[in-house]
Amino acid sequence: MRFSSCYIPTLKESPAEAEVASHRLLLRAGMIRRLTAGVYVYLPLGLRMMDKISKIVREEMNAAGFQELLMPVVQPADLWKESGRWEQYGKELLRFKDRNDRECCLGPTHEEVITDMVRGEVRSYRQLPVRLYQIQTKFRDEIRPRFGLMRGREFIMKDAYSFDMDVPGAEQSYKSMYDAYARIFQRLGVGFRAVEADNGSIGGSFSHEFMVLADTGEDTVIFCRNCDYAANVERARICWTGEKAGRPCPPCRDISTPGAHTVADVAGLLGVAPAKIVKTLVLLADGRPVAALVRGDRELNETKLKNLLNARDIKLAAPAAVESLTRAPLGFAGPRGLDLPVYADLELQGDTDYVTGGNAADTHTMHVDLSRDARVAVFADLRNIAPDDRCPVCGGEVSLRRGIEVGHVFMLGLKYSESMHAAFLDEKGRERPMIMGCYGIGISRVAAAAIEQNHDADGIVFPPSLAPFEAALLCLDPDNAGARAAAEKIYALLPRLGVDVLYDDRRERPGVKFKDADLLGMPMQLVIGAKSLARGVAECKDRRSGEKGELDLDNFESAFGRWARRVRDGWNEGAQGS
Ligand SMILES: [Zn+2]
Repeated sequence: MRFSSCYIPTLKESPAEAEVASHRLLLRAGMIRRLTAGVYVYLPLGLRMMDKISKIVREEMNAAGFQELLMPVVQPADLWKESGRWEQYGKELLRFKDRNDRECCLGPTHEEVITDMVRGEVRSYRQLPVRLYQIQTKFRDEIRPRFGLMRGREFIMKDAYSFDMDVPGAEQSYKSMYDAYARIFQRLGVGFRAVEADNGSIGGSFSHEFMVLADTGEDTVIFCRNCDYAANVERARICWTGEKAGRPCPPCRDISTPGAHTVADVAGLLGVAPAKIVKTLVLLADGRPVAALVRGDRELNETKLKNLLNARDIKLAAPAAVESLTRAPLGFAGPRGLDLPVYADLELQGDTDYVTGGNAADTHTMHVDLSRDARVAVFADLRNIAPDDRCPVCGGEVSLRRGIEVGHVFMLGLKYSESMHAAFLDEKGRERPMIMGCYGIGISRVAAAAIEQNHDADGIVFPPSLAPFEAALLCLDPDNAGARAAAEKIYALLPRLGVDVLYDDRRERPGVKFKDADLLGMPMQLVIGAKSLARGVAECKDRRSGEKGELDLDNFESAFGRWARRVRDGWNEGAQGS
């Protein structure tokens, strides 16, 4: 395509609305524009990128034996009421009424719709398995849409669903998706890991997340250095194997700690280690106040607490509520004499003689023995795993990396087939529920994650498989007839070699063209000008390594072919799976 006739509104300056690299660069490269909060227009280059990702996803879904269909964006509330999610889903589900006063929603996912369709058609075990997918627009009314395509409200997703007659069949469906995902991310050229995810409240099921590793990721992934165990930090189990302390603890004593609201303040003031301070957090579990205790150097894991309490919703109480429940300003709550159910992290059993809040302004309590001085309802695994923890599988050392979740494979089991009565008749004519799995890839999020992982100060560094164009061709002197003719010749040749090319034929200064080519991030750059023409060569640059070279114009086709292979091979070596 010729740059002069393309709509590529690049920006010189970083837009103020963008906080992360992918958001900034997608805007600057003229690939997306914001319409309203969390909702974006895909401009022509952005759409080309999305199409390339979708093409690879389709090829691998089809190869895995899944068939494509397309379901609607608007879904009737009745189906969601049947599955029980109309009440459960919360405000992320955008609900509205049509002109006949019928309740509807914009689909954030399609389990209900597909289960309804399959239960209407499938009667016999002979019709199973059913394996389907779609690539479609979803809407989730995120409370804080941010980071551009990373966490939008409207986004493009591939979602697949499997219906099997028995567990071995369902496991086979799951495995075929797991393997397909690994191939997809390998082909896309992004570094990724598959990690174990939460079983959540769906008993008997299991799932894996696929994470693109990037320092700006919102998730933290923990890896065992010894075995294959990898998990989202929020979900990693902690095996606390310490002994309960038998150590005697002096009697409690309140101490004045004016203005010491944080663990760091208290540690500094009293000269104790954060590990010897107990943080007391007041939360609302489905509106009911509870207190959670973790060591001062740990983080409470709200999902673990939520699962322990079997709550639908959990959040930190507002400062005013904390003050009325603990009779102390924020930062001075403690478990002693607290009239709330208290849940403590397992690890706190390992010692006595802690410092806690004193439930009075500017007061802390020293020498607290939790089993002596507080009424702890349960000690349980309530915190995020940390680098000094051990692998829950083998006990080996662990390390932490940041990641972006781009895919999720989920064994649903009977969750929807039971509530929505999706059943079939087996060989003996007995009615049995189908066993389901669901499998998602955030297509638009993959694009953002790939850019988070692959960019530099000058712009995007696209892996070849998802670059809007694989090559940039820059004609530096379009008014020079010879240079123009040479560039046109290459422009005509490249598509025949299977390379799509953006040909910068604009009457712009060379500096502008170089800057735009680097910003747009096409993996291969070819440059033709009067000077290189005089030497009988085209200049070439590998966008990723920055390595420059020259390709002989007389033998251009073979010289280019060799160089293009080197550029692509470099990317293939970089892509890593788990
Ligand atoms: Zn391990």
